[in-house]
Amino acid sequence: SAPSKPMPKQTIRDLDLAGKRVFVRVDFNVPLEEKDGQMVITDATRVQETLPTIKYLIEKGAKIILASHLGRPKGQRDPKQSLAPVAPALSALIGQPVDFASDCIGEEAKAKALALPNGGVLLLENTRFHAGEEKNDATLAKGMADLAEIFVNDAFGSAHRAHSSTAGIADYLPAVSGLLMEKELTWLHDELEKPERPFVVILGGAKVSDKIGVINRLLEKADTIIIGGGMAYTFRKLVQGISIGKSLYKPEWEPIAQAALDKAKERGVKILIPVDAMITDAFDFDAKKFGNIKFTGAGESIPDGWEGVDIGPESVKLFSEEISKAKTVIWNGPMGVFEIKEASKGTFDIAEAMAANSGAKNIIGGGDSVKAVKKAKLGDKMTFISTGGGASLELLEGKVLPGVACLKEK
Ligand code: AMP
Repeated sequence: SAPSKPMPKQTIRDLDLAGKRVFVRVDFNVPLEEKDGQMVITDATRVQETLPTIKYLIEKGAKIILASHLGRPKGQRDPKQSLAPVAPALSALIGQPVDFASDCIGEEAKAKALALPNGGVLLLENTRFHAGEEKNDATLAKGMADLAEIFVNDAFGSAHRAHSSTAGIADYLPAVSGLLMEKELTWLHDELEKPERPFVVILGGAKVSDKIGVINRLLEKADTIIIGGGMAYTFRKLVQGISIGKSLYKPEWEPIAQAALDKAKERGVKILIPVDAMITDAFDFDAKKFGNIKFTGAGESIPDGWEGVDIGPESVKLFSEEISKAKTVIWNGPMGVFEIKEASKGTFDIAEAMAANSGAKNIIGGGDSVKAVKKAKLGDKMTFISTGGGASLELLEGKVLPGVACLKEK
């Protein structure tokens, strides 16, 4: 197999933090809604995910300076994308005051940072109110670094971006990972380097081109790769020689898929693809509506004018059996158009199959699979659920994430 790339990064556990000002990049990119002229947080999951790191830092007597982006203000101050509502929400969660500074750099932030008692918490305003943030501007990075003595990156979901607050700041401060970041790297990287076998990878989603990087990377590690979702039709056309009607497909996906199939054969990796499908003759995603719906039999072609929108029961059976024998499972991407109820069964059945295999390490690798698992209320049956989207995919592709590369090696 390919040489394994260990990624042991220092964490907050490796440093003496008492009395130190620590700049912590978190992901507080929470959904906000205007209510009676005020912005309120509609889902605080992302704040909750950072609590282990924040509580650890409080316990160690660090002076905690929190920074995050929120939304896409494009370098402008926008009151509707202010992080201010997060301060009272966080305060309620940790049971102590959280101060707020109206800018992530400058005099006010510096004064408030210097005034922090040991274990005190300060939240800075949206880093993206500065146009320099997304350009990884060095002056902005230096301005943020000036507030602190140590940089902690706990914003895994932003780690694939080289921004001033996710990577640039590490040029000026010793940089280590937070506990959420550490967990993400453990489950989406370290554990997959030497997985307990059999190791089954389940990939779904719309496009072959979006997932081929992950397929190619995990072909070096997996025993089986299960392919569902829109991208499966290209594989079905190639392997089963069926016609696929108007299912998701692009001619340029064929050679990519064929190369993956060849590589799998060479390496002795089993590729499992769907054998049946739920199909429809009309599909309006925005209205969340289908026309007529029916199932193909196993191995049958999809008629002209019809498209596959979910895997069928035979595929669920085939996939579930393989999942039940696994010791490690990682899943990224839905089996069908799971946002529409009629086509969500295949996706939920796969979540159930993972949950039923309680002896396995069950990893949910980010994005839509996370939504599906939460909707199915199966979250507590999984070993790890990633908080990332793009960052998870890039890590699974074996790419170096700038927000990780900048952290000190162990
Ligand atoms: P991705 O972001 O690449 O994981 O793709 C997720 C999207 O793929 C979801 O919005 C699904 O609705 C969509 N999807 C999954 N299966 C199909 C399918 N058979 N036809 C069209 N879209 C699909």
